[in-house]
Amino acid sequence: MGLLEGKSGIIFGVANKRSIAWAIAQALSREGMRLAFTYQGERLKESVEALTTTMQDSQLVPCDVTVDAEIDSVFATVGEKFGKLDVLVHSVAYAPREDLENEFHKTTREGFKVAHDISAYSLVGLTRAALPLMEKAGGGSVIAMTYFGAEKAVEGYNLMGVAKASLEATIRYLAANLGPKNIRVNAISAGPVNTLAARGIKGFIGMLKHHAEKAPLRRNVELEEIGNVALFLASSMSSAITGEVLHVDGGYNIIGL
Ligand code: NAD
Repeated sequence: MGLLEGKSGIIFGVANKRSIAWAIAQALSREGMRLAFTYQGERLKESVEALTTTMQDSQLVPCDVTVDAEIDSVFATVGEKFGKLDVLVHSVAYAPREDLENEFHKTTREGFKVAHDISAYSLVGLTRAALPLMEKAGGGSVIAMTYFGAEKAVEGYNLMGVAKASLEATIRYLAANLGPKNIRVNAISAGPVNTLAARGIKGFIGMLKHHAEKAPLRRNVELEEIGNVALFLASSMSSAITGEVLHVDGGYNIIGL
């Protein structure tokens, strides 16, 4: 019997087969979790549908995380189909390309707002909407994705680093707030992986190379390794862990010089 048999979860952020969210979905499904997926708009529907139909019993619902009505409708569907919710995976981020590419002091007010809305505030909105269903499950686990650029200035990461810092603080405040309801909130800080979102970062290929050379494990991380840590955070194996940012980066973050 799988570690997550009888549990249900929802995954935000699958765009294609290279998405971190898809690697997480595969790990959770492997251990028996029933999953619902969201996709951002019609443009992505086909590719997400092609992947998720391979997973038995899965549900697929549209959701742009900037639209409250879509968030409400997602959780209404999940309530109808699953009756409760054990896990929420937030693997969503966005910043306008010009705000990522420009020198940081040129960041626009609008770009700052959009990046924080989609990449950080959405965790609050989604968790709040999931709350009644998690209470029905007797608790839950919320997992978000972050990156080292939240902790230190990383060339090219710019505005996204500031939004990730906000996301990491959001994780701690949600964890403190929802702990008494047995809802845990954690993040995985992953080393660089070549995905659609990552290609928006200027110099990303150089970042991959640098990371592989400097990380104590002398390599980049595999999608499957991120999926496995999400599985740990989703399961009762991590039942006393909340408010944490777990680095899955081959040890890169511990290196000074
Ligand atoms: P990805 O492009 O596959 O996933 C990003 C997802 O965000 C997409 O599915 C996209 O549809 C979704 N999204 C963007 N705006 C949205 C909106 N308004 N509403 C709903 N969904 C929206 O790329 P990924 O690398 O798998 O990114 C997933 C997460 O992992 C992000 O939070 C990213 O910052 C984080 N992360 C990525 C890396 C990396 O190197 N790839 C490293 C650490 C953390």
